[in-house]
Amino acid sequence: MDFEIAIIGGGPAGLTAGLYAARARRKVVLFEGEGIGGQAATTDRVANYPGFPDEIGGFELTARMEEQAKKLGLEVVYSKVTGLSAENRAFMLETSKGNYTAKKVIVASGVSPKKLNVPGEDEFRGGGVSYCATCDGAFFRDKEVLVVGGGDSAVEEAIFLTRFAKQVGIVHRRDELRATKIVQEEAEANPKIKFFYNKVVTELAGGDSLEKAILKDVKSGTIEEVPTSGVFIYIGSLPRTEFLSGLVELTPEGYLATDERMRTSRPGLFAAGDVRAKSLRQIVTAVADGAIAAVEADRELGAGS
Ligand code: NAP
Repeated sequence: MDFEIAIIGGGPAGLTAGLYAARARRKVVLFEGEGIGGQAATTDRVANYPGFPDEIGGFELTARMEEQAKKLGLEVVYSKVTGLSAENRAFMLETSKGNYTAKKVIVASGVSPKKLNVPGEDEFRGGGVSYCATCDGAFFRDKEVLVVGGGDSAVEEAIFLTRFAKQVGIVHRRDELRATKIVQEEAEANPKIKFFYNKVVTELAGGDSLEKAILKDVKSGTIEEVPTSGVFIYIGSLPRTEFLSGLVELTPEGYLATDERMRTSRPGLFAAGDVRAKSLRQIVTAVADGAIAAVEADRELGAGS
């Protein structure tokens, strides 16, 4: 199956690239191996996307993006891209639903949650350990849970979890949060949230399900056992670039390096959204990247293709 533009990833960046490519009347396909909407779709509420003064759910916002792009002709294939190669001025995409070719590719594959890499993390995954509060929060009604991390994700999701949990502890390795001030203020004012500063998780333990987290004070070295039914891990993300296998230049952290037109080191290959090396990872910058990547891909294809 031949396309003019293939987009890898169905989060805000990919969906917006699809919207712009479809409006340019290009033959465009988008591949998504998990849920449409990416990480944004698992965000309970989005308070900083312009135009929604009363906030909007992440799922609803991305579902609207999908509807808009599909209405204009974007084709979506619900399959993960497992390999990408360049041949004869085109790209070949390997998926579980067969191989596809495209003249231009926009990589908008996003990021995956970083793991703590402590004993018990894998064992209790699905039995107390989670990387998605929106998906699993409701299982912890009236329970005590911990959130690990001090960034926007950790603090926002801790606030979300107070809807269900009796108490939410934020475990952060420093004594100052990284999250945006307004988010910090909201967490500090929430009586259900308790802060464990200068602490790291060294082990997660229990029986059939998670029962406790072992915390270490990074300053004093003191060890503390905290009873908990759930641990939500939000310590940052890793770029999803494994399928690119040497095709394109990555930063030392594995992100795709681009210029301001979203062009990577490989001609015809663009990047957009969280997978790109950039200073601000937000829905608003992801959609901007997606728009630029699609417009540039359309320009390169020119009138005659
Ligand atoms: P992040 O900003 O990179 O924060 C990761 C947090 O985890 C930091 O507080 C970091 O501590 C901590 N951490 C990292 N590795 C750790 C480890 N091994 N053990 C313990 N703690 C560790 O990640 P994020 O919160 O997922 O946010 C990613 C990007 O998305 C950011 O740009 C953020 O602003 C954006 N975002 C925005 C919104 C929003 O605007 N509504 C919502 C979610 C995310 P240190 O602080 O000590 O480094």
